[in-house]
Amino acid sequence: MGEQVNRVDLKHVFEFYRAMGIEEFPYDAGSVVTEKNQAKQKKSSAGKAQKASALEKLFHEELEGCTGCKLSAKRTNIVFGEGNPSARLMFIGEAPGREEDKQGRPFVGDAGKLLTSLIEKMGLTREDVFIANIVKCRPEMNRDPEEDEISACLPFLKKQIGIIRPEVIMALGRVSAQTLLETDVQISKLRGRFASFEGIPLMPTFHPAYLLRNRKDKALTWQDALQVLELLGMKAP
Ligand code: SF4
Repeated sequence: MGEQVNRVDLKHVFEFYRAMGIEEFPYDAGSVVTEKNQAKQKKSSAGKAQKASALEKLFHEELEGCTGCKLSAKRTNIVFGEGNPSARLMFIGEAPGREEDKQGRPFVGDAGKLLTSLIEKMGLTREDVFIANIVKCRPEMNRDPEEDEISACLPFLKKQIGIIRPEVIMALGRVSAQTLLETDVQISKLRGRFASFEGIPLMPTFHPAYLLRNRKDKALTWQDALQVLELLGMKAP
């Protein structure tokens, strides 16, 4: 039935073009679809390139050499964040650790390995998502970032989110979730339920460093990740 309707529709289309003096139809339906896809892909790569250059500009013009808070004194590298500038999913932790400070990359220590395995279990790669932190320089001895440090650094993260415009954010751990949601509710109560950050659905979950110490809670984080996948219209492989 549906096929019959399509044929009738196409017949009308061809008749319409003939009435306009157009006799040749150089494209078959497949190639029209392909061209549409190509145009869509071209548009999305242009968008991705624009976002990449906006992120680069943000780093070079506003963050490089930043002395906006006391964390600048002892850092080795500013850890800007990394990943796909057009990511549909963004992970936000709290602060770089020792290894991250050394390499200038987010989540590359043991907790980072656990995060990478979560991302892969979701059927994604680190290159598909964007990973960042609330503060971009390492607090000494891996202490929590303090309020003045968070206030000084948060505008940079907000700008990153504004450029990337992910469809979903996963907030990793207490500091990230409480900062982004402006609440002091415990992470164990926040996790597992979608909230919203500037109109973007945000799923609070445990920090991978916490999961290294509390392996039994990995199952809860996986449940949170499954909800995120569902919202993205994806399934775990
Ligand atoms: S933590 Fe943020 S605000 Fe503080 S010095 Fe580093 S980049 Fe600047």
